[in-house]
Amino acid sequence: MGFRERLLAPGPVEVPPAVLEAVARPVPHHRAALARETFLSARARLAQVFMAPDDDVLIVTGSGTAGFEAALVSSVPAGGAVLALQAGKFGERWAGMAERLGYAVERFAAEPGAEYDAAALVDRLRALPDLAAVTLVHSETSTGALHDVRALAALVRGERPDALVLVDAVTSLACAELRPREWGLDAVVSGSQKGVMTPPGLAFVWLSERAWERAAKSAQPRYYLDLHRERRKQAAGETAYTPAVSLVAGLDVALGLLLAEGLGAVWRRRAVLNAGLLAAGVALGMRPLAHRPSPAVAALLVPDGVSAPDVVKAARARGAVLAGGQDELRPALLRPSLLGHADRYDAIGAAQLLEDALADVQAGTPRGVAAAAALRAMDEAE
Ligand SMILES: *Cc1c(COP(=O)(O)O)cnc(C)c1O
Repeated sequence: MGFRERLLAPGPVEVPPAVLEAVARPVPHHRAALARETFLSARARLAQVFMAPDDDVLIVTGSGTAGFEAALVSSVPAGGAVLALQAGKFGERWAGMAERLGYAVERFAAEPGAEYDAAALVDRLRALPDLAAVTLVHSETSTGALHDVRALAALVRGERPDALVLVDAVTSLACAELRPREWGLDAVVSGSQKGVMTPPGLAFVWLSERAWERAAKSAQPRYYLDLHRERRKQAAGETAYTPAVSLVAGLDVALGLLLAEGLGAVWRRRAVLNAGLLAAGVALGMRPLAHRPSPAVAALLVPDGVSAPDVVKAARARGAVLAGGQDELRPALLRPSLLGHADRYDAIGAAQLLEDALADVQAGTPRGVAAAAALRAMDEAE
């Protein structure tokens, strides 16, 4: 077993010590002044990350999936037609969720890691005159692809101006450039255990003005995830039910750290570190899966003859949780990530760990190449 545990997965991520310290403080009562102040501070900071007014951003106690369900049931009318864009597991999840919730779901797919065919998407949108919403994943964590949400949203709005654009930004918020209002999005969802470097348990939802209007009118059954009701409460620093107050305290500190670094600097740091991980993989004979890589995760196909789950196991024996692939990508994919509290020295360490774990399972693995490649790639990307 390794000397220390490391999380090299795209969530949960390494959490900064100051955030852990905040989470460990005595629990305040959620209706007391301290909790209210902390809540309002965290929400105001979160709104800065979403580049939106405070009142348009909500904190939901639950994982990222709860945030997506909340956005869907709050803004899309019961039984409405939803077009789900899917090129990986999370895109599929939202299609499946919408189906279970009684929406009329259509799917538009691309190969895992590939980009969508814009002309085919336009044809599809034209064939769906009564579309209520389109679901998109910005950073598809299962394939390591960063989808061009800005261009896709513009295309949807051009063809179906009344359809809401709902975006899973769970691993892109505080990681990749994301401008919800400027890009004409209607719902953007994220979670605490990814780019905002907080333990799991909170979801974040931003809605556009017209999505909030629809949320006020929607007759879709909902109770805990009723964002319209939550919005009034949260404006006063309260929530309809008991929030995870300790996580909110941690979130406030984490967002303070990210905003002090500067959003642009955070986006650059993430891109540089991920370029390092990808280069390390390539130096080891691996192949990036995504055409347009997300800075959140380095999705790498292992060399022929190597079992990716065996590399995951070898990494585990060395003390690291290295994410592997899901479902049909499981045999061949590795997904190392430095989405949390990480700098270039962590990237060099992660690169070496990848090399060591591969060497454990593959005879003749080159030595001393991964960290050097990561270093060169990071210097170039800097
Ligand atoms: C992690 C993740 C989610 C949310 O998962 P939860 O387990 O519900 O927090 C959703 N979408 C993407 C792209 C993710 O990476």
